[in-house]
Amino acid sequence: MKVAVFSCKPYDRRTLQQAAEAYPDAQLHFFESRLSMETISLAEGFDAVSCFVNDDVNREVLNRLHNMGIKGIALRCAGFNNVDLYFAKANNIPVYHVPDYSPTSVAEHAVALIMALNRKTHRAYHRVKEGNFALEGLMGFNLEGKTVGCIGTGRIGKAFCRIMSGFGCHVLCYDITPDEDLLDLGCEYVDLETIYQSSDIISLHCPLNASTHHLINKTSLAKMKQGVMIINTSRGALVNAQEAIDGLYSGKIGYLGLDVYEQEGAIFFEDMSDHIIQDSVFQLMLSFPNVIVTGHQGYFTDIALKHIADTTMENLRAIASG
Ligand code: NAD
Repeated sequence: MKVAVFSCKPYDRRTLQQAAEAYPDAQLHFFESRLSMETISLAEGFDAVSCFVNDDVNREVLNRLHNMGIKGIALRCAGFNNVDLYFAKANNIPVYHVPDYSPTSVAEHAVALIMALNRKTHRAYHRVKEGNFALEGLMGFNLEGKTVGCIGTGRIGKAFCRIMSGFGCHVLCYDITPDEDLLDLGCEYVDLETIYQSSDIISLHCPLNASTHHLINKTSLAKMKQGVMIINTSRGALVNAQEAIDGLYSGKIGYLGLDVYEQEGAIFFEDMSDHIIQDSVFQLMLSFPNVIVTGHQGYFTDIALKHIADTTMENLRAIASG
């Protein structure tokens, strides 16, 4: 099977090549370009394509791939909102994804943001590089005994709750489908209002949908403790960025850690980075010393990349065997 691998960075290439060693019949061809109507001719002569979150697998692209004789699509990500699944299903084009590559990776990144914001390591590092060892403004707080609210306790949220329980935090959870395993860890399911009113730290681990869009907004912020820490490693539009900035100005938000942003595509996809640089709300957010933003790197660990590559190869084998 000949596979065209789109949006393939050197690190993806290395892990895919290692995973492909177990599949001698697979011939992988790597393209850094993202799949779109502009680049679709690169897929000519291949049996399958492998895509990432930023590839544009819309109806027109799928139709062309179908006419080229592509037998299936192996996504190297969990989400599939970039694929026209209705068209794929109607035309019997199998689309595989990687549902569960490493929840711990994202949970640990949420904790990394908490630790960095609390102990101000981003600011301390720059000071020390300039020869300034003063501690003014760098005081942190002990996590032990703090109340942490986790919204969404699926794969990632559950891993996050485990870690925070280990720090000795009192973990409050909210999910539309509670997970009883967390009760054994001493976590407590409560309603959203209680999460807002009682938490020192709130971390978001629910999907983006109509009921969670702009969950963090001026109304929910008004119910929170003064100086609350908000962490979002899920989807950017869970947080109303403008209203979060108002919260930062008023001191309602004491710390803000984001791995995702409302204009997420613009941060995550390097070819669109000019767009985000011009986003004034984003720039304003970065100007606060108590804000840390990372570019959707929560998933980005060695283990997660290995799982993505291994599952992608299994999915390609399933496509090959029809
Ligand atoms: P999951 O499906 O295992 O868990 C999501 C949980 O949210 C479920 O338990 C579900 O019941 C709950 N939920 C759904 N609607 C809710 C609501 N209205 N209020 C509260 N809870 C609700 O998903 P997951 O794998 O844990 O992923 C969680 C989020 O992390 C997703 O948004 C995903 O896109 C994001 N993610 C980010 C990265 C990254 O690199 N930053 C990587 C992977 C996933």
